Amino acid sequence: MAERPYIVGNWKMNGTRAMLSQARSIDRAAQNLMKVEVAIAPPYTLIHPVHREAGQIAVGAQDCHPGAEGPHTGDISAVMVADAGAKFVILGHSERRQDHGETNALVREKCSSAIEAGLRIILCVGESEETRDAGKAENHVTRQLKASLPENLDNAQESLTVAYEPIWAIGTGRTPTVEDIGAMHRAIRATLSDMFGEEQGAAVRILYGGSVNPDNAFELLSADEVGGALVGGASLTAESFLGIVIAAAELNDQPA
Ligand code: PEP
Repeated sequence: MAERPYIVGNWKMNGTRAMLSQARSIDRAAQNLMKVEVAIAPPYTLIHPVHREAGQIAVGAQDCHPGAEGPHTGDISAVMVADAGAKFVILGHSERRQDHGETNALVREKCSSAIEAGLRIILCVGESEETRDAGKAENHVTRQLKASLPENLDNAQESLTVAYEPIWAIGTGRTPTVEDIGAMHRAIRATLSDMFGEEQGAAVRILYGGSVNPDNAFELLSADEVGGALVGGASLTAESFLGIVIAAAELNDQPA
């Protein structure tokens, strides 16, 4: 487990202003759980309201357009989400790759634009069930990682977090074994070291995502090289999300 675990809630297309009370509760609890870095990525419409409520947690976006401004009806740029209070953006989520046909090349452009706007990025990578069954998961994920990241990423340990999210584990209640998560995270770590050098590569946090909940969080977070979690469904109520945050804090308290 990383020195300060990072637990990020991805609210996806969920939440109206009625959900601000959940954000408030999460923020209040996070003030007493300083050993864990806690963040929420609500839908665009709630970025500014959550930002205004938050004293402790960081607020992020779930996507951005690769350009800064221009004739792109319905799109939102990194500059805009930063202006609304976002400190980070999730990019390359498998639901964007599937629902919107996002390629590695497009994700790479978005990463560059987000960093230029001063945002940190959480880059998602992960394999389908078919790819895992074919024994090609590590190869697929490490290639996806290399192809989705800008080559000239300065200060990777500050600007980048990687989230390993097997597609077949997202929202399904199924999870890989702790051994499989550890093996994939080690492969990602080795790729990061190749790309950014040993020191920077070792410092980039790698999150696990896919059906994390308060009951399995302690076990999943204990896998090798896991520095936190990206949480979908279980981040939608303060109660279940904080159960995961508390598991991360407890794990971090344990002697190495
Ligand atoms: C996600 O989509 O980022 C995710 C991890 O979802 P869930 O926790 O619901 O599987």
